[in-house]
Formats: sequence, C-alpha cells, structure tokens
Amino acid sequence: MILSAEKLWTLDSCERRYAYSQRYVLKSISTLGMLYAALESALVAPDPEQEAKDATMRIAASQELVLTDINRVMAVRHIGYLAGIVAVALRERMGLLKKVQCCTKDGLEWESGLFETETGIKHRIELVSHLDDDRLRGIAHSWRVVGELAALEEGLTLTAVVIGPQRGGRRHSEWSKGLLHPQHHGLRFARRNQKNVGFNDTWIKVWREQQSDIPTEKWLTEMKRDGVLDGLILSRDIPFKEDNRTASAKRDMVMAIKAMKGASESSPMRRGSCDDWGGCPFAPACWNATPASPADLPRLYRIREQDKPVEAQA
Ligand code: SF4
Repeated sequence: MILSAEKLWTLDSCERRYAYSQRYVLKSISTLGMLYAALESALVAPDPEQEAKDATMRIAASQELVLTDINRVMAVRHIGYLAGIVAVALRERMGLLKKVQCCTKDGLEWESGLFETETGIKHRIELVSHLDDDRLRGIAHSWRVVGELAALEEGLTLTAVVIGPQRGGRRHSEWSKGLLHPQHHGLRFARRNQKNVGFNDTWIKVWREQQSDIPTEKWLTEMKRDGVLDGLILSRDIPFKEDNRTASAKRDMVMAIKAMKGASESSPMRRGSCDDWGGCPFAPACWNATPASPADLPRLYRIREQDKPVEAQA
C-alpha cells in the first residue's frame, strides 16, 4: 500500500471517511480544493500563470464548484487569477520546481506532496487564511510535515502562503485586492510611510481578476514596493532528526496500514470530525435522515473507476 499524508490525515479524522474516500469520488470540489489543484499544477508548468488559469477551467468543466454566495464564473476566474499570481511569486523565489517522486524506505511506500527546487530543497506549500503561532504549530505537527520527514528522512522547508479569509466567495488579501488612485489610477496596497494610516474613501477598491490590464508582474512589483509581499509568504526550515518523533511517526504509519485495511463503511461515525475544515464531504450520507451510503447519492458521488478501490487502480 502506498501511504500519503492525505490518507493518514483522513484515517486519523475518521475511519469511515477513509473507507468512503477509497471507494467514492466527489462530483464537487471546494474553492480551496480547486485553488490547491490549480496551484500545484501551475508550480511545475513552463508558464505558471497560464497553467493556473487553464487548470481551474479544466477542473470547473469536470467538477461542480461548491459555492455559497458568488456566481460560478466569477469564482472560477477569481481562483484562476489567485492561483496564477501565487504560483508566479513562488516560482520567483524558488525557481523551477518539480514534484517529489514516490519513495520507499524501510518497506514503506510513500507518495510525497512536496515540491523540489533545482538545488534539491524540498518545500511543503500550505495555503492559509492567516498565520499565527497556533496555526504554524498545527501545520508543523501534521502528517503533511511529520509524515514527509519520517518517510523521506530529509529536512524540508515549510512555506505558508497567506491567501486571506474567504468572504462573499472571494479570498481577501493583497494577492487579489488593491486600491487605485482616484485620478492617475496608480495601484497601491499600503502606505509606505505612516503604515497605520489608511487611504481615504476616494481610492477605488479593485479585484485583480477584474483588472486584466494590470499585468501580474506589475501587481507583484507594487506589492513589494508597499512592503506587503513578505508578510504573505513565510518559510521555515524544518530539519530531519532521527529521534523519538520521527520514530513514533514511522511506527504509527505501519499501524495505520493495518487500520486502513480494516476501515469500512460501517466503521463508527466520528462526529467530532464531521464539521472540521469546512465539513466532511460525506456528511450528506452519514447525516441522512434515513440510512444511506454515498452509493445512494449519485448526484454527489460516483464510484471510482471500474468499481475498484483507489489502491487497486494505482
Ligand atoms: S460525516 Fe463524519 S462520520 Fe461521516 S465520514 Fe465524515 S467525518 Fe466520518
């Protein structure tokens, strides 16, 4: 069995969810899921910005976007532009990237979610609405970091990209939002002096996806000149140490394989996990008023190709 941070996280949160995720594919995708998918595709592409926009269109054509209060076309455009500018900024910092390949160590097969620079530095890229000490600790303790350290036996750089909170269907941060001067339409984000003094009401609030005449390079240059970019991409080196933490992670990974094999659609509900991280996508089955499995809800889920669990397709 090939392990991954995603599988371990899913199993940790709920065995039933793990079992469902191996058998069913969601017909919908969250805005954050689409953003991650577009960004990850863009980071390894020759033209990251174009690939980000193309990837969002491809995903939108095959999966329903979960939306609350914005129309679909606007949401897809917003996500494509956001993924594009973040990908360009990360590539400016890190250079050409490639996905880290599967590896096998001590009999454990691992599908990595890291990206590697041409000089061999491995990056875990996390998109966060905000970053404080609690959030940073939570990421550092997650399978997305600890699992990679234990499986690869190498250090990594954790890079958090602050994309802002989602309100009204859009991410609110300088990646997506700026101000235009009322007369000469110069783009600004913050005062360079007197930083705690804002701009007056005559400045025009704009969304980047509605300002396609402003090139990405210019948007990024103005973010840098106004000193906002450094607060939106934060990196921490996390060294690998052969100590109790990585040893216990490896032991847990071996035990997780057994638990994954035993997980089933009748595993007990983990109600404390149902509403984490925007809610479990299988809640419509588990919280149905009458007994139902995802197979009874074909509008929401489809059975994985050829009715085979994901491992058998690999
Ligand atoms: S809805 Fe809750 S119980 Fe059902 S699979 Fe998801 S986390 Fe588990």
